[in-house]
This record gives sequence, C-alpha cells and structure tokens, in this order.
Amino acid sequence: MIQFYMPTKIVDGKDVVQQQGKIIKEYGQRALVVTGRFSSKMNGSLQDMKNTLEKLNIEYQVFDEVEENPSVENVIQGANKYKEADFVIGIGGGSPLDAAKAIAVLLKNPEESVEDVLFNMPEAKGLPVIAVPTTAGTGSEVTPYSILTLHKEETKRNFSCKLFPEVAFIDVRYYLTMNTSVRRDTCIDALTHLVESYLNTNASIYSDGIVEAGLALWARAYPNLNKDKISEEAMHDFAIASMFAGIAISQTGTSLPHGMGYFLTYHHGISHGHANGLFIGKYLRLYQDKKKVAKLLSYLEMDSVETFEKKICQLLPTVCLTDLEKEHYVEQMMMNQGKLKNYPFSITKEELLAMY
Ligand code: NAP
Ligand code: ZN
Repeated sequence: MIQFYMPTKIVDGKDVVQQQGKIIKEYGQRALVVTGRFSSKMNGSLQDMKNTLEKLNIEYQVFDEVEENPSVENVIQGANKYKEADFVIGIGGGSPLDAAKAIAVLLKNPEESVEDVLFNMPEAKGLPVIAVPTTAGTGSEVTPYSILTLHKEETKRNFSCKLFPEVAFIDVRYYLTMNTSVRRDTCIDALTHLVESYLNTNASIYSDGIVEAGLALWARAYPNLNKDKISEEAMHDFAIASMFAGIAISQTGTSLPHGMGYFLTYHHGISHGHANGLFIGKYLRLYQDKKKVAKLLSYLEMDSVETFEKKICQLLPTVCLTDLEKEHYVEQMMMNQGKLKNYPFSITKEELLAMY
C-alpha cells in the first residue's frame, strides 16, 4: 500500500503576501508572527506580512527571537508571547518555520506538559500555521516536521505529531538576500532531502517522481550555487526543488546523513545543510542499489559518485573529529531506529565509523 498526503496550499508569485494575503483571514483574528532576529527585516518579508495583517484588521504580535536550530526553551518563550493567538505565521528559514509549528502545538494544548505535547503525543493537533520560507533548504513550508534542539539529550529531534502548514507563500525575492554560504548550505540541504528520499526504504513511485523533478531543477540551478549574486530564475528553481524535496521527505522521511549530521550541528556548530552535505557522497557510495544511485545521478547530469563528490561535497569545509567523538556519535546513531530503518540495508558500526 502506498499513501501520499500533502495538504498545504502553495501560493507562488512575486508580492504574493500582499496580493494574496487575504486568504489568511479564514484562520482567525489574532496572529502570532514567528521569525528570526534579522533576515526577515532585511528582505522585506516581515514588513509585507505586517502590512497585510493591518489591512485585514488582524491583531498580531511578533516573536522575533527564533534562534538557529530552535531549542525547546526557545519555542516555549515564543508560545508565551501571545497565548490568545488563533493562528501562527512562520517567516524565515527552517528554524522559524519549525518553531512556528511547535509553538502552534503548544498553544493548542496549554493544559498538557511541554514534554508530553512535543514528544509523546503523536495525535496532538496545533493551531493553523502559515509559512513564508526565505531559504531554499528545509522544505519545512510543506512538511509536517518540526526539528527541535534538545539540550537534555544533546541532539535534535523531530516533534512527535505531524503538522503541515495550511498555506505556504513563496516569493523568490525573499531568498535573494542570502549570502553565499547560507545559500550553499541550505540548497545542499534540499539536495540531501532529494537523495535521502530517493534512496530510502519508504521510497515509492509517488515520492520518486517528485524527487526526479526536484533533481532536474536543482541541476539546472546548480551552476549558480556559489555565485556572489544569483538570478531570480535560478533562485526560483532552487526554491521549487527544495519544496519538492520537502514534499518527498514528508512521505519517506530522511535517512542516515540527517541522523549523523545532527551531532555535528549540536556539538560543533556546523549548519544543518553543511552537516548533512558532509555525509551525502558517502551515502551514495554506501548505498547497495547501484542502479538506483546511477539513475539519481543521471537526473543531476552527473556520470559517477566521484563527479558528485567533486562538484558537491568538495564545496563544504571538512570537520575534524577525535576518535572518541566519532565513537560516541556512532553509539548514538546505532540507537536511532527512526533513521536506521529508512536505510533499506543492514549497516554495521564500522561502516558508520568509516563515514564519520
Ligand atoms: P535557519 O536556521 O532558518 O537560518 C540560518 C541563517 O540564515 C540564520 O542566520 C537566518 O537569519 C539566515 N537567513 C534565513 N533566510 C535568509 C535570507 N533570505 N537572507 C539572509 N539570511 C537569511 O536555516 P535553515 O537551514 O533554513 O533551517 C535549519 C533548521 O531547519 C534546522 O533546525 C533543521 O533541523 C530544520 N529542518 C527542518 C526540516 C523540516 O522538514 N521541518 C527539514 C530539514 C531541516 P535570521 O535568524 O535572522 O532569520
Ligand atoms: Zn535537512
């Protein structure tokens, strides 16, 4: 049996928040806007949303303190900002979008303990979420996931329920302010989603079709990845590729590189996309279904894993780990059943150690 579910309405176009913003009126009269500290002020997305809310007479509060890789403490802080909100608007990269989802779940279930509602209640519902992405990386605008930093466990974990945004507003202008390293890391994150969804136990003809379209768009935009200035066309290709990747991982989940990358982010401050990108070439090498790997590479217009590593992996600075660190992360990974089961073959500690 195959299931495919993607309920988010995507509205894509220039000035879409101001032109089409009226559709958010149906979600209520009071909005909590959740965003990061700087970027949404710089690229105009926050001001566009404020103008729209004011025009619609929707009351709002802004929580603009979302940190990168938001922690449980950070989302509690956001939920305390406007407990009367009817819906939540996330603006920014994956961090504010994920924080918006977690806050929406906390606000909907004020009587439950934070730990339970975030990590032990798969059936929990949230307030409606509207997403305005500004990085072409996580696809969080179309996924039901919210990845939170758990200081207690020294890693990151997805919350237990599933909450798709109701609406995703895509305006390519907001993405153009990314500097080259944020653009590189986030676009590589999108690529890792495409790869990990395609080379995944749960891959189906549905998710594969979307991944193949995403890979082709990503490949078309790739020559622009590291340019100082990127054209709107190329940025738009990356934005759609990232959304397709989000739709695909919503069906399949991610696999080993994401599980392995979390430790580099938590302990070494390596950005999410960079951390996953360091493992993705090794994942292609490891993957036993070589025919499927070759098919994937053909959509990227690459002839071999070596070419992939040369073109993608070598863009990313490496990270030096001690033997003790590597062993510790492998121990943790061996307990991460969620990610291990998405790799369709058996894997040994030694193989994971070699990847680190
Ligand atoms: P991010 O953490 O949201 O943002 C990284 C940096 O980029 C921040 O400094 C941010 O600034 C800046 N930034 C964002 N948009 C910008 C723009 N248009 N122009 C200039 N700077 C901009 O990065 P991300 O990679 O998009 O998100 C990573 C998070 O998403 C991680 O926690 C990861 O685990 C999670 N994730 C979620 C999913 C999912 O399905 N939900 C999937 C994969 C990853 P400000 O802080 O000032 O905004
Ligand atoms: Zn990711």
